Amino acid sequence: MGNAGSHTHRGLGGYGCLQEGRGPGEGRGRTDRRHHPYSSSPIGVGRGCRGALSEEDGKESGAPLPLRHGARGIVGSGNRERLYRTEAIILRRRDFGEADKLLTLYAPGLGKTRVLAKGVRKPKSRKSGHVELFTHSNLLIAKGRSLDIVTQAETIHSFLPIRSELLRISYAYYAAELLDRFTEEGEENRPLFDLLLDTLFRLGDSEDPDLVLRYFELRLLGYVGYRPQLFQCVRCARAIEMATGFFSPKDGGLLCLGCGEGERGCQETSPRALATLRCVQVRDYAYCRRLKVDRPTHEELENLMRRYITYLLEGRLKSVGFIDALRREDGGVTTAVLTRR
Ligand SMILES: [Zn+2]
Repeated sequence: MGNAGSHTHRGLGGYGCLQEGRGPGEGRGRTDRRHHPYSSSPIGVGRGCRGALSEEDGKESGAPLPLRHGARGIVGSGNRERLYRTEAIILRRRDFGEADKLLTLYAPGLGKTRVLAKGVRKPKSRKSGHVELFTHSNLLIAKGRSLDIVTQAETIHSFLPIRSELLRISYAYYAAELLDRFTEEGEENRPLFDLLLDTLFRLGDSEDPDLVLRYFELRLLGYVGYRPQLFQCVRCARAIEMATGFFSPKDGGLLCLGCGEGERGCQETSPRALATLRCVQVRDYAYCRRLKVDRPTHEELENLMRRYITYLLEGRLKSVGFIDALRREDGGVTTAVLTRR
């Protein structure tokens, strides 16, 4: 995260009166697809634990470990207290050892955490399909001495509509990478988990995946303390009406014409882009999804958000290069997909 923690406007979360439909409660009520089958999960305690422990070195039996903070469903007693169950979204995977994968998860009660999925690179692994990138899974995890180990995995949502289109995959990859880069391990943030889960659904079915990403970015930045100031000049505090301004990544928001003219590193914002950005920042998704955003405005907004995020992270996200390469390659097709309404 580089110097992000010392960034001067950390905690600009306080434009209270403008924040309609934000926060932890946002988006509740669309539970139709959000079935979290803990109680009916076929991952049974008895079946689960024995198989689980046999996969690990099994040398830590003895005194029960303290319950892990925030973990869901600590299972059983005795040895079984070394197991916990959680739902999680797989943010990142990398090869580990001969046949394993090191997974970076985002879980509602745990925040970001890294766990080992043993043997998932073997062709016959039963777990591998349940720990794919962006999969929302129900996991049974055993505590290990250095890394915790996934002992059972069961897909809750695989987000097939995303996986059927390369551009949507790249957007999901971007969302996962962005969340990964803006979070520290072990910091619980339920709204952020919900946001990512919602975003994956939206990326699968929205006709405007760019708008889904802008919404995701602005919410995420708000949750982690980098909410950009879009309503008044960050230097002189003058209210900026529906006109042009200059977005300054290093100031974390807009500069008025007087303060921003000729300022280095600023991007002039068109009235249309600014209006869209403000709307996405303060309105809920049910409202924002009805916005009609034309291509030039989308390009302007993407450029603006990329510059801001690149500044905060002190570097570009890998997925940005992937998205750009994809667009170049399939040119007109991608544009058609993006503008299909
Ligand atoms: Zn000003």
